[in-house]
Amino acid sequence: MQTFQTLGLAPDIFKAISAMGFEIPTPVQAKAIPQLLASDQDLIAYAQTGTGKTAAFSLPIIQKLNMEDGRIQALVLCPTRELCIQTSNEIKKFIQFMPNVSIVSVYGGDAKEKQLRSLKSGAHIVVGTPGRVHDFIRSRQLNFSAVRWLVLDEADEMLSMGFKDDLDAILSTTPNEKQTLLFSATMPSEMQTIVRTYMRNPIEINAGTQNVSAENIKHLYSVVKATDKYAALKRILDVNPDIYGIVFCRTRMDTKEIADKLIEDDYSADALHGDLSQPQREHVMKRFRAKQLQVLVATDVAARGLDINNLSHVIHYYLPDQLETYIHRSGRTGRAGKSGVSVAIITGRDKQKIQAIEKSAGIKIAQKDIPTGSEICEKRLLHFVDNIHQIEVEEAQIAPYMLEMENRLKDISKEEIVKRLAFVEFNQFLNYYRNAIDLNVGASSAKPIKERGEKGKRQERTAFSRFFINLGQRHQLDPGKLIKLLNKEMEGSGFEIGKIEILRNFSFFEIDSNYEQNVIKAFRDANWNGEPISVEVSKDKAPSSQSSGDRGDRGREREFRPRRDRDNKRSNTDSRNAAPSNFKKKKKSKFSNNFA
Ligand code: ADP
Ligand code: MG
Repeated sequence: MQTFQTLGLAPDIFKAISAMGFEIPTPVQAKAIPQLLASDQDLIAYAQTGTGKTAAFSLPIIQKLNMEDGRIQALVLCPTRELCIQTSNEIKKFIQFMPNVSIVSVYGGDAKEKQLRSLKSGAHIVVGTPGRVHDFIRSRQLNFSAVRWLVLDEADEMLSMGFKDDLDAILSTTPNEKQTLLFSATMPSEMQTIVRTYMRNPIEINAGTQNVSAENIKHLYSVVKATDKYAALKRILDVNPDIYGIVFCRTRMDTKEIADKLIEDDYSADALHGDLSQPQREHVMKRFRAKQLQVLVATDVAARGLDINNLSHVIHYYLPDQLETYIHRSGRTGRAGKSGVSVAIITGRDKQKIQAIEKSAGIKIAQKDIPTGSEICEKRLLHFVDNIHQIEVEEAQIAPYMLEMENRLKDISKEEIVKRLAFVEFNQFLNYYRNAIDLNVGASSAKPIKERGEKGKRQERTAFSRFFINLGQRHQLDPGKLIKLLNKEMEGSGFEIGKIEILRNFSFFEIDSNYEQNVIKAFRDANWNGEPISVEVSKDKAPSSQSSGDRGDRGREREFRPRRDRDNKRSNTDSRNAAPSNFKKKKKSKFSNNFA
């Protein structure tokens, strides 16, 4: 394996990158740095955003700068203001032990005078957007006659943002005798023209496909009806309470609409699209960067300037028309060894597109069901419990109320309090997802949890029979798996499933009474991982056959049931207020109140 020591970097540079915590060069760095240190040949490198391109091109340049010459020796062009700032900040860190090297960045949306003053006081390296650099060339305020290196960073992005004319103008004014370095994730045809016109015998290095095919990105798609897309999106967010992701839309209208709905539904979300002013954009990006927002709804164009690539999820609310766009989007997750998920919410007719992307990108996009209401409820309950486990309580805030609270709860055991807290929280989800239908197109006919609440409504609903099954958490059973098992054994014959209770050693479930005999018959010869399954009608809310080890569970389930009924009668607001505020506050997730 290559290390930075073996790449041939000068001591001051090596010291800087070590201080920055760089240990192992990224693939594009390992390929480009030795090449650029050794040769003046032009270079094309295929690499995605976030693969360490800045170091790949700037370290050799810094090392080869002529410190006797005060003129501009390197010009780096980046697509957006944000990328300019990010890139020049990164280069400033590389030169932290080289006080004589100077760098200036120039971009639109900021006063020209200030940038010109900085340029006048001298710059070896200029990082700029094509628009502003071209402006300065036209007004003869920037002179690139001494430029030895021209870097086109994220070249495909610059072209897709319409900078072709600016690039042409800039490229034709810089001296012929220079080294041109082009970095890009893709090679659109427009770029081939640039390469042919302005580059000489470039050497190509390829570190470009690693993101999209990276093992740490899981590519998924779910098929729903067009009218269920938003509901499906919500479920994906709900089942991933710690999500940090971008939802990609096609138009600014979609972007606005979806973001507005999410905000209304109390998600930690906002929109990024072309209608925002620069300060508005920056405000949103700042909040997202600081993780004050968990979900950003964005168009591809608006997301381009965003230097955030450490997402947990990329959600394609609409699939893009271009393969490159899919690669760009997905490449924002699965970084730095962390795993990431790219999920497309599609309708049936988009399946062909999925296949086309799989084929041309050489990846597998797996079908995954949108989670059922009960799967989400379970996930959220466990997440809540984990949060209680990890939370750091701000003592000073809670201290004044402790005595009274303890007093009021003194007749309840600790275990019971924890259980009730979790239950209060869980109940909101259950309420929200009560009657939640299966959103998956082509899903089997059984519907997940039909939770019944108020007495009045209950009478109109299906009469259920309650069944005991000899499988529980110990057998890795969960509500989702039980529903699947029921569908499998009963071949999805259109029955309705009621309440499901998964206990440690066994479980209960309810099925439309008309199907009582079908259930018994269906499970007669069924087995679970080789173990015979036993299913019986449970008339007395308790299994007729039970081992002594199960008694504890039964006790617990008896305590649970009446409270669920009582809680269901309370309004959501009540139960939400009942949740302790200190738990909400320190929680990483902002999704705790989604279900009001
Ligand atoms: P790109 O320009 O390809 O989008 P950057 O050069 O901005 O990527 O690098 C992305 C992030 O990765 C930066 O925070 C950078 O400091 C970090 N980084 C780059 N190279 C390495 C490395 N070899 N080891 C650790 N971190 C790195
Ligand atoms: Mg970059």
